[in-house]
Amino acid sequence: MEDFLMRINGSPVPALDGRTIPVLNPATGDQVATIPGGSADDVHRAVAAAGESFPKWKKTTMRERGKILFSAAQSVRQHAGELARLLTIEQGKPLREATDEIRGFCNVLEYYAAASAQPLDQFIDLGSSGSAVVRQEPLGTCAAIIPWNMPAIIMGWKTAPALLAGNTLVLKPSATAPLTVLRLAGFLEEAGIPPGVLNVVTGTGGEAGDALVKEKEIQALSFTGSSETGRGVCALASDRGIPVTLELGGSDPMVVMPDADIDAAVKGAVNGRFYNAGQVCTAVKRLFVHEAIADEFVQKLTDAVAALRFGNGLDPDVRMGPLNNRAGYDHIRSIVESVTDRTEGKIQKSGKPAKDLNRKGLFHPPTLVTDVSPSSRILAEEVFGPVLPVVTVPDLETAIASANSSPYGLGASVWTHDTRVINEFYSRVHAGIVWVNRHVSVPPEIPFGGTKASGTGRENGKYALLHYTRSKTLYYGA
Ligand code: NAD
Repeated sequence: MEDFLMRINGSPVPALDGRTIPVLNPATGDQVATIPGGSADDVHRAVAAAGESFPKWKKTTMRERGKILFSAAQSVRQHAGELARLLTIEQGKPLREATDEIRGFCNVLEYYAAASAQPLDQFIDLGSSGSAVVRQEPLGTCAAIIPWNMPAIIMGWKTAPALLAGNTLVLKPSATAPLTVLRLAGFLEEAGIPPGVLNVVTGTGGEAGDALVKEKEIQALSFTGSSETGRGVCALASDRGIPVTLELGGSDPMVVMPDADIDAAVKGAVNGRFYNAGQVCTAVKRLFVHEAIADEFVQKLTDAVAALRFGNGLDPDVRMGPLNNRAGYDHIRSIVESVTDRTEGKIQKSGKPAKDLNRKGLFHPPTLVTDVSPSSRILAEEVFGPVLPVVTVPDLETAIASANSSPYGLGASVWTHDTRVINEFYSRVHAGIVWVNRHVSVPPEIPFGGTKASGTGRENGKYALLHYTRSKTLYYGA
């Protein structure tokens, strides 16, 4: 077991009052590390360090900053194996998925390193009225709060654009998956991020997270987490008038039309729902299948889910790990129980448990729910775990109406080759991203974010750079 430390002003430090929080392996229940239980005082010293380092950092060029991101990505790639293992141990996901995520973190850094070659500033020729220069200036010290489900990639989504744009950052990971984030911050520092430019404060949301949102020197906030927490965080930040991006929960619909490639759609549904044990904001959380193909589709889906091996993510044969934390595990069990108690659907717990499944692990089998009642809680709430409700629909109209009946609006996918259907679905579905014949994947070039209860603002691409800058115009008269 190892004691991990926060990273403030370029150094690993304990909490000022010495408190620690245990980090557990969700596959075994064993304590694997401790992290400092940061307080408002720890947050304050991190914000002060970020503030002090800002004037010098902002004077570096985008190219210089981009080079550091690139070099950090190179060394993280060289250590991908050990980082993926750490991620599996603290988060639970299979090693293969953890490796994908570490590589995804590198892809994000490399994307922004390349983006540094294209200045954000613009020259505007106004003809006889003169001309203007629009500069995108960094904001100062920014704050980022991230969840436990995809800690490395979400750290990359926030850290790379914030730092590339010339800001300094205080980042707070979740208390149940903070270890990989702390290691990655170390790699960024080793690659040349100066002390104080990136600070990581660990602790609980209610204490360190809340204190970070309340810090007066924070100039922008990027929050990823549940809609409930996001609403509270947003209220605090809006009082101060700072820009906020909120990447919140989702209940993504996947719609399968009669002309779809059924095998591809089944694969998409299995990957879309059971990747990371269903703990993905853009997971397929509601599946709508056209009645003309429903029997064949559901049979193939049932067979594919039955073949999913679940167990400890370190086992190379395992396709699905445990849930990350006890609260999430209990929530999923309560949803499944309520569907059973109220006879709101037919539950099929499935999958193949690994031979040596640890009884203390937070394992929930991959589960299908058919014959779902339209008023069931399973369609109304975000189900952040490996449970997939399957609903049969008679036509596209019903599919779109059902898709839009959720309070969420993050992603949505339609499986068809009919361009009329694609256009109709894309125009009318409530979502920040619409996939055609795929679901879940979000490369760094593509803007990502939601609508309705799924949040506001966009990560990735130039959209994130704009969040971390403000424009300042110089207008030359003719
Ligand atoms: P959460 O809201 O409980 O916690 C997210 C982060 O906020 C954690 O770091 C937590 O410590 C912190 N936090 C908690 N209370 C706080 C407070 N009062 N003030 C400030 N910070 C606080 O969410 P979670 O359970 O860690 O993550 C799962 C949720 O995140 C799901 O709803 C999922 O859909 C969502 N999510 C969204 C996206 C997206 O991009 N839209 C991506 C991943 C996860």
